[in-house]
Amino acid sequence: MTVLVTGGAGYIGSFTVAALLARGERVVVLDNLSAGHRAAVPPEASLIVAELADADLAGIFETHSIDAVIHFAALTSVPESVQKPYSYFHNNTANTLRLVEAMRQAGVDKIVFSSTAAVYGEPQSNPITEDHPKNPQSPYGQSKYFSEQILAAFLVAHGVRHVALRYFNASGGAIDRGEDHTPETHLIPIALQVALGQRKSMSIFGTDWPTPDGTCVRDYIHIADLADAHLRALDHLRSGGASLQLNLGNGAGYSVAEVIAAARRVTGHAIPAVEAPRRAGDPSTLVASSEAARRILGWQPKFADLESIVESAWRWHHAHPHGYGDRT
Ligand code: UDP
Repeated sequence: MTVLVTGGAGYIGSFTVAALLARGERVVVLDNLSAGHRAAVPPEASLIVAELADADLAGIFETHSIDAVIHFAALTSVPESVQKPYSYFHNNTANTLRLVEAMRQAGVDKIVFSSTAAVYGEPQSNPITEDHPKNPQSPYGQSKYFSEQILAAFLVAHGVRHVALRYFNASGGAIDRGEDHTPETHLIPIALQVALGQRKSMSIFGTDWPTPDGTCVRDYIHIADLADAHLRALDHLRSGGASLQLNLGNGAGYSVAEVIAAARRVTGHAIPAVEAPRRAGDPSTLVASSEAARRILGWQPKFADLESIVESAWRWHHAHPHGYGDRT
């Protein structure tokens, strides 16, 4: 039995590949390396560099005796999706349709899917449970929500079962593995780039939000805990479990100001931060209820506090100031 991991050279994908290999699974990674990194794929995995839109999926399923798919490959920037809707619906939605149809044809009936808190849009209340109304506000969120609906239809029509994992703010790292985006837009790596002297200062996008300190509140979830949830979701499907949609977060919200303060403590650097206007499309507060993932998958995040998440990210950025070193 071998797992096909699309997008396995990316941030969340490569942590999951490493966790699969560590427990003795065979893994094939399919990645176009547009955002992923060859060096992030452990040598024990087979890497196929190809576009999901063109890849010979039938051949891959047969040659490698694939029994399940974990599907990360996607474009992930909300603002970019507003500018480039074709790319997002093509890469995220149409490619998911192509993948799941190829699975059906090959008789592969289990898929763990990377979804997102963006399917909910502006939350009506926090913490968000899975039955919260879905009102995605960007082509990115829509592209993921359409993919969830495709999976639901393939379940009904063809019995292809899925677990859609709706991530909140993936963060943190390990000594040899971590976040490396070009350009970087995420809060924790940007704060750490200031600490490394790669940026003079950073912006705080809005200090007039309806939150305790006026800055946005998010639910930061460690990448190793996310990877662990994927393995549990795979086990759930392999043992005949029903299709699920599950939030993955710590269930605790931290403000932008609190994150920057934690980064200052962890790095010992002053990390100058300048107040800036709100960033378009940001909801003020996004906090997950992950009660369902805990109950159904027996999942328990190990990195529950912000400090340990930022510390683990710092270990990676400090040891690898230029990430995997394959981008200019
Ligand atoms: N943010 C910020 N300055 C930055 C980057 C992000 O103030 O340089 C804020 C952003 O507006 C949001 C929070 O930090 O409120 C988390 O943003 P990130 O892009 O990391 O994740 P998102 O929640 O957008 O997925």
